[in-house]
Amino acid sequence: MPTPPSMSRRSFLQGMALAGAMGAMTFRPLRAVASPGEAVAGRAQQAPLFPQAPLMQQPFALLPTGSIKASGWLLRQLHIQADGLGGHLDEFWPIVGPDSGWSGGKGESWEDGPYFLDGLVPLAWQLDSPTLKAKAMRFIDWTLEHPWENGMFGPRSNDDWWPRMVMLKVLTQYHELTGDPRVMPLMTRYFHHQLQALPTRPLRDWGRMRWQDELVSVLWLYQRTGDAKLLDLAHLLKQQGYDWQGMFAHFPFTQKTDADALRKQAGGSDAFMQDLGLQVHGVNIAQSLKASPVWSVASGSAADREAIHHQLQMLDTYHGVPNGMFSADEHLAGRSPSQGTELCTVVETMFSLEVALALTGDAALGDRLERIAFNALPAALTDDMWAHQYNQQANQVECSQHRQPWTTDGPESNLFGLEPNFRCCTANFHQGWPKFANSLWMATADHGLAAMSYAPCTVATVVRGTPVVVEQVSDYPFRQTVSLTLKPEHAVAFPLRLRMPAWSRDTRITVNGKPVKTTPGFTTVERTWAPGDTIEVVFDAEVKVERGYNGALSFSRGALVYALPIEENWVVWRKRGPTNDWQVYPGSRWNIGFKPDVPIAVSEHPVGERPFAGATAAVKLAVQGQYVPAWTSSEGSADPVPAKAEPSADEGSPSVTLVPYAGAKLRITAFPSLG
Ligand SMILES: [Zn+2]
Repeated sequence: MPTPPSMSRRSFLQGMALAGAMGAMTFRPLRAVASPGEAVAGRAQQAPLFPQAPLMQQPFALLPTGSIKASGWLLRQLHIQADGLGGHLDEFWPIVGPDSGWSGGKGESWEDGPYFLDGLVPLAWQLDSPTLKAKAMRFIDWTLEHPWENGMFGPRSNDDWWPRMVMLKVLTQYHELTGDPRVMPLMTRYFHHQLQALPTRPLRDWGRMRWQDELVSVLWLYQRTGDAKLLDLAHLLKQQGYDWQGMFAHFPFTQKTDADALRKQAGGSDAFMQDLGLQVHGVNIAQSLKASPVWSVASGSAADREAIHHQLQMLDTYHGVPNGMFSADEHLAGRSPSQGTELCTVVETMFSLEVALALTGDAALGDRLERIAFNALPAALTDDMWAHQYNQQANQVECSQHRQPWTTDGPESNLFGLEPNFRCCTANFHQGWPKFANSLWMATADHGLAAMSYAPCTVATVVRGTPVVVEQVSDYPFRQTVSLTLKPEHAVAFPLRLRMPAWSRDTRITVNGKPVKTTPGFTTVERTWAPGDTIEVVFDAEVKVERGYNGALSFSRGALVYALPIEENWVVWRKRGPTNDWQVYPGSRWNIGFKPDVPIAVSEHPVGERPFAGATAAVKLAVQGQYVPAWTSSEGSADPVPAKAEPSADEGSPSVTLVPYAGAKLRITAFPSLG
C-alpha cells in the first residue's frame, strides 16, 4: 500500500498499527502534516508577538523559542545535560521509554512524558541535534496524529486535564521552533472541547492548582488566532482554578507545616477545606507565582499583575532560604536552612519568573531568576547531570536515608540518584537550562530589545522589521563583564534595554567606548544601531553579607551565593542502569561561624569545562572563622543554626575557602553569626 504523501512513513505505520488495534471503524485519515524534514529544520528569525486589545499590554514579551542560542559556558552546560540524563533518560527509564502512553504505548500515561518533553524539545533545537529531535518527535508525532474524536488529545487511559496542561507548553514551544501546521488546529479543538466539558467535569486537584500554566497556552493561541472562545475559556479556568492571589493576600502558612498541621489548617475555613495539602505544596506554589501576572493579561488589572510581589514577600518572610528559593519538602517548611526544596519547585519557579518578568517588567524578578538559575538549579544535580536530588538543603551536611527533617517527604529525598523519593523531578528538571536560555533576551513593548538575564548567547530576531543579531560574550556570573556586539542587517533605530541587577551599585556601560548614564531597574540606550556597534557592561560585584534564619550569615557576590564545601565521600547505594543512586558522607568539619564584618578576599580562577563543578571553582572567597562546637547534626542534617553561637575558645581561627554554592554538594551556606 503506498504511503500518502502528506504522512511520514513512521506516522503512517503508527496510524495503521492503531487501526489494527482498534478496528478499521475508528481509523480516521490524518490531517496534512509538514514533512519531517520541514518540521524539524527550524525556522527563520521571527518577530515576537505582543497581546492586542482586549488583552492588557505588557512591557516585555518572550521571543519565540529558538531565537536565542546559548554559547560559551551556557552551551557547555546544555551539552552536559544532553550527554547526561537529558539526552539518555528515554533509553533506560521505562517511564519515558518506548512504551510511554504519550507515544502510543501502554506505559506511563500521565505527567512524565510531557514533563520530559518540556525540556527535551527546547534542548534538542538549542543543540540542533538530529538525535534529540528524533527522540522528541516520537512523542510529538504520536500526540498530533492521535487526537480523540471529541477534541481531547493524549493517552486514552485517562482524561485528566493536568498532564495536558504540560503538553500544551510543549506544543507551543514546538510550534515556535517548527511552524508545524498540525499544532494550532489540535490546540483549538482541544480548547473548544474543554470549554464545553469543564462545566460538568471541572478542574480538580493538580489541574485546579495549576490552571495558570494552561492559561499561558490559551493566551498564546488567542494571540495567533483571535478566537473569542479562548477568552471565554480563560475566564472559566480562572473561575474554576484555585485563588492563589486570595490565599497570599491573607497568608496563613507562616510556619513549617507537617501533616497534622495541614489537617488542622484545612478544618478552619472554606477556602482550605478542599485540596488538603495542595495549597502549601512547593511545586504548586512555584507554578502559582505566574498566576496573577498571567491572569492580569486577561483581566486588565494592574493590581493582579503586581500581586506577585506580595506573594514573593510572604514566601521570603516565612520560608525563604539563601539560594533564592523557598523551602518546601514537600510542603512549606519554614526558614531553617536545613529544610529542603524540591528540584521541580526550582525549575517551576524559574519558569514562573521568566513569564512574570516579561509581564511585570520588574527587574528584581530577573535578579531572583539568576540567583536560582546559577545556584539552586545546578546544586541539585551532579556536575555531569547524571543524577539529581529531590530535595536540596542550603545547609546540607550529609545525603543519606533519614525521614527527618522533611515535612512529609520520604527518607531518600536528598540522595543523588535517578528518581530519589518520587520520579517527577527526573522527568521535569530538563526544562531548567533550555528555558532559561530562551528567556535571556526579550522584546520590548516599544519595539526594542532587552537583555533580561545575563549569560553567553546569540539572539537572532526581528526588530522594527529588520533582522537583528546580538552576540553576547561573557563568563557572567563568574565574571562581571558582558560584551555585546550588534549585527543588524542594516542600520536601524530602536531602544535597547539592559537589566541592572540591584546588587551592582556602580554598573558601568559604554557604547562604542563612550560612557552611558545608567538608571536603576533598566538602562535604556536609544539610538540608531549599526552593524558592529558594541556595548560593554561592567557590574560592580561586592561580597554581600545577608542575614537569615536565627540571624545566620550568608555570603553572596553578584548573582552567586557562596558556601563552605565539606569534603564529600560518595558511596554507591544502588546501581541504576547507566547511573547510580548515591549517598554522600562528610569528611571534614563544618560547624564554623563568622563575624558579620569578617574580611573576605576574592580570587578568580578559570571557568571549568563543567562551569559549576566545585573541583574547578571559578571564584573563591577566603575567610577566617571560628568553630562552634555545640552546633552539630542529627538524622543526617545540620541542626538549626544557633541564634547565639559560642565560638570555641581554644581552636584558633581557621582559614577556610568558600566556593559557588552549586559546586559544593555538601555545604554550609547559612553560618552562625559570631557577634
Ligand atoms: Zn519533583
